[in-house]
Amino acid sequence: MADCLFCKMISGEIQPDVVYETDRVLAFRDINPQAPVHVLVIPKQHIPTINAMTDQALAGELLLAARGIAESEGLAEGGYRVVINCNGDGGQEVFHLHLHLIGGRRLTWPPG
Ligand code: AMP
Ligand code: ZN
Repeated sequence: MADCLFCKMISGEIQPDVVYETDRVLAFRDINPQAPVHVLVIPKQHIPTINAMTDQALAGELLLAARGIAESEGLAEGGYRVVINCNGDGGQEVFHLHLHLIGGRRLTWPPG
């Protein structure tokens, strides 16, 4: 996807602050962090929203990547949140599927 911001990161046109990478998954620090740790975990395949996600193995890889990064960032004990925003009501702004891994401070619930 030529005009997709996250695809440009996968292709190397834009270089994010990468924290984790496999052949199918990339994770990097959010440019506008909402907490001391705010990492985005994305599939290297362009999938616009979770509505279009059908690959069960890839879904698992994304979730386990988030879990592993939480561990390596020192969040596992204290806790953290993994969020996927979908479309307008979900507050999605970048239409390349991504998991937000957010932690390092006490998070409020419910979201606004
Ligand atoms: P969402 O609202 O769920 O689509 O989240 C999109 C996220 O992408 C936001 O948290 C943005 O801060 C983040 N973001 C936008 N541009 C960049 C960028 N160039 N590098 C890293 N994160 C970005
Ligand atoms: Zn994309």
